[in-house]
Amino acid sequence: TPSKPAFQRVLLKLSGEAFGHAGKNGISLDETLAIAEQLKRVVEMGTQLAVVVGGGNLLRGAQFSAGLNTIKQATADSMGMLATVMNGLALQDTLESLDIQTRLMSAIPMDTVCEPYIRRRAIRHLENGRVVILAGGTGNPFVTTDTAAALRGRELGVDVLMKATRVDGVYNSDPEKNPYAEKYDRLTYHKVLQDRLKVMDLSAFDMCQEAKLPILVFNYKADRAIERAIAGHAIGTLVTG
Ligand code: UDP
Repeated sequence: TPSKPAFQRVLLKLSGEAFGHAGKNGISLDETLAIAEQLKRVVEMGTQLAVVVGGGNLLRGAQFSAGLNTIKQATADSMGMLATVMNGLALQDTLESLDIQTRLMSAIPMDTVCEPYIRRRAIRHLENGRVVILAGGTGNPFVTTDTAAALRGRELGVDVLMKATRVDGVYNSDPEKNPYAEKYDRLTYHKVLQDRLKVMDLSAFDMCQEAKLPILVFNYKADRAIERAIAGHAIGTLVTG
């Protein structure tokens, strides 16, 4: 039986890598299904769920434009934002194959493909129990989907911003490089800034701090991690005021 959710309305930031096989480009049907199955159980707990999707499995603007200088970063960023729409479409159909109602909304209007992002409409969808998939980032270049997550989290009045990553929280140094790195269970915004800990992009972090929006960083690969996090189990690292 699903546990009672600790959070009523959640914004989940899923990096593009969640849609692909580790270290590989592209979209994997099984990885997308594995994520969708977790999201289904979250929705069944009664949590209102908005998902901001990244696009790094397909293209990251800054990396793509670096080098030859033939494609401007603003253009490459548009390409990156379009990549997030591809992930969003994949997640939408996969969730619907599991009988979960969804709406895909894009910050870049694309009327024949999905709905435009309209804040009040997104809130209605959440109230009606639909998973709202937010694609197209912020619609603007030079930022990433972390910023989109913070922005939408505030706009939609969520209780927590959950950042699903490959590592199981915030460490005092990079755990993929330093075997002695130690994980924090809880952090304050102040400590993150003081120790320059990597939680999310600074502009996104700033936006969360300003609104005192808690951030939970956790590993989406761990068994049932997303539903456990939403049920309020102590996993990952929670950043609060
Ligand atoms: N992007 C952008 N503006 C936004 C969000 C994303 O220009 O508001 C572009 C940017 O090029 C970024 C790419 O889309 O690199 C994919 O998003 P992101 O890198 O955040 O994906 P993730 O790392 O979460 O997979």
